[in-house]
Amino acid sequence: MEKKQFRTESQKLLDMMINSIYTHKEIFLRELISNASDAIDKLYYRSLTDDSVTLTRGDYEIRIDTDRVARTITIADNGCGMTAEELENNLGTIAKSGSYDFKHEMEQKEDVDIIGQFGVGFYSAFMVADKITVTTRAFGSDTAWVWQSEGVDGYTMTEGEKDTVGTEIVLHLREDTENEKYSEYLDTWRIKSLVKKYSDYIRYPIKMDITSEKLKEGVDPTSDADDKYESVTTTETLNSMTPLWKKRAQEVTEEEYAAFYRDKFYDFEAPAKTIHFKSEGTATFDAMLFIPAKAPFNYYTKDFEKGLQLYSSGVLIMDKCADLLPDYFSFVRGLADSADLSLNISRELLQHDHQLKFIAKAIEKKIKNELAKMLESDREKYEEFWKAFGMQLKFGLYSDYGQHKDVLQDLVLFTSSNEKKLVTLKEYVSRMKEEQKSIYYACGETVDKIEMLPQCEAVTGKGFEVLYLTDDVDEFALKMLMNYEEKNFVNVCAEELDISTEEEKEAVKAENESSEDMLTAMKEALGDAVSAVRFTNALKNHPVCLTSEGGLSVGMEQVLNRMPNGEEAVKAQIVLEINASHAIADKLKSLYVYDRDKLANYAKILYAQARLIGGMSIDNPAELSSLVCDLMI
Ligand code: ADP
Repeated sequence: MEKKQFRTESQKLLDMMINSIYTHKEIFLRELISNASDAIDKLYYRSLTDDSVTLTRGDYEIRIDTDRVARTITIADNGCGMTAEELENNLGTIAKSGSYDFKHEMEQKEDVDIIGQFGVGFYSAFMVADKITVTTRAFGSDTAWVWQSEGVDGYTMTEGEKDTVGTEIVLHLREDTENEKYSEYLDTWRIKSLVKKYSDYIRYPIKMDITSEKLKEGVDPTSDADDKYESVTTTETLNSMTPLWKKRAQEVTEEEYAAFYRDKFYDFEAPAKTIHFKSEGTATFDAMLFIPAKAPFNYYTKDFEKGLQLYSSGVLIMDKCADLLPDYFSFVRGLADSADLSLNISRELLQHDHQLKFIAKAIEKKIKNELAKMLESDREKYEEFWKAFGMQLKFGLYSDYGQHKDVLQDLVLFTSSNEKKLVTLKEYVSRMKEEQKSIYYACGETVDKIEMLPQCEAVTGKGFEVLYLTDDVDEFALKMLMNYEEKNFVNVCAEELDISTEEEKEAVKAENESSEDMLTAMKEALGDAVSAVRFTNALKNHPVCLTSEGGLSVGMEQVLNRMPNGEEAVKAQIVLEINASHAIADKLKSLYVYDRDKLANYAKILYAQARLIGGMSIDNPAELSSLVCDLMI
């Protein structure tokens, strides 16, 4: 019979499974049971809206059988089954999203232990089996299909027979070796304990026929007759069927949470935090939420879909219910289960469901509180979290016109000039100097570049703390926030910066007035590039800097003009400020008297310098170069 080949990436994974030296081969059973349970979920979900599904809740089951003589384990379910096409697509390749990442990771690490950390699914069965036969009949189809494979050399598919809808998987166990006793999986007790260990929470009964020797009825136990015992076979349900989230938090171990999370939400790593709680009140529900340790590779793209699984009394009714999570907590994975939701509710109606809104509110509050607690009690962990998802919280501050301020303002961190550490706004304000009126910040590409900004030096030089904003969204978020504990946010590169004493202000005002004509001449030389040129006494060593006037800062101008579909170019109003106590000030004044043309060139050079110091590019480098050369020769 013609053998079909596995797709390349599947082949690699398969190869790893077959040659696995991984010690926890037992997880294959968990994987197959999970698949069976998912398949039943699918059919059950369908039955909610499709009358042609005749099975009722109590009919669904997963069956395990072993056959010592044939050396086989059979796992059967009466779930949705697979059509020929699905069979081919699902088992001929790895369908899982993120499988490429997974493969990549494995290739890099060559670390077999990763198998245990991540549900590798169906193929894990090849760790214990040398031949696998899958017989399946899809719901709504009369034909069954048989898929068979002995490993890497491919698989066959043929039409077959099956009376009922569902899937039956027969594993032919490998021969025992010195190190591996595959026969142990034929042992009823072993299977029983594996189900308890890994699949106890599966919500459908996992049944197995258990045969035991019993004393025959009416026989005297002390008799020494050979036939006083008989074999009795009973069907036992091996799992308790209590979903993990229905258990009390104290009853669940960290490992159980982590295994559940990895299995359900396809992560390689254990979650950074698990939040398991029960809510009673306006909304009654159980929730199990996870904060991933790292952002998924597509997190900050439009492909990422937020949402929690939604259950109604233990039955999955929606896989990704987006309405349960606000955008700024979109990284949270997990589920909510409430008896108050109707099973048959359509998605459209669900959106308007009051109960759902209550649940969402309670979940939001819980996440906020848990994050605040983490920030308070485990700073290191919070900063790890911040690295992964802080950006999202800052977007949250900015979005919807700052409506979420109360939820988020105490959760955001910014790098501070104070040891370049991350600080909260509360920490900043608590350290503010008595005479300090505002919260200062400065924007730039990197912390180091910001630190070197002349204006920043001027402010930190006076002993004030400055927040260093390096992400595009930062300044917009602060603008939206407007103030924190009644303190305004002030960009150190903007005109509102007010750190001078009254005397200093007077002095600089006089300086500007007496040089008004010269400053106007310089402004004219620069044309539209600046709205004014003036003296400042805020600078220490630098000759010049650029300051913005009006609401739009230079940084915001840059961000807005970088947007892909930004409309008209926006323009910040920029002032070229000259250090009044720098030697260049006197030079300019004398040029104004003796050589106005040279003054114009000086204005251009100083403007270009100010841009460079501020981390901006210059529009006409060739012009600058020739101006500088003219001065040199
Ligand atoms: P995963 O379950 O993580 O998607 P698997 O390799 O375990 O990956 O399975 C691939 C796919 O095969 C599943 O997504 C599912 O569509 C299908 N499948 C596996 N087992 C069954 C089953 N018992 N019944 C129906 N479909 C199944």
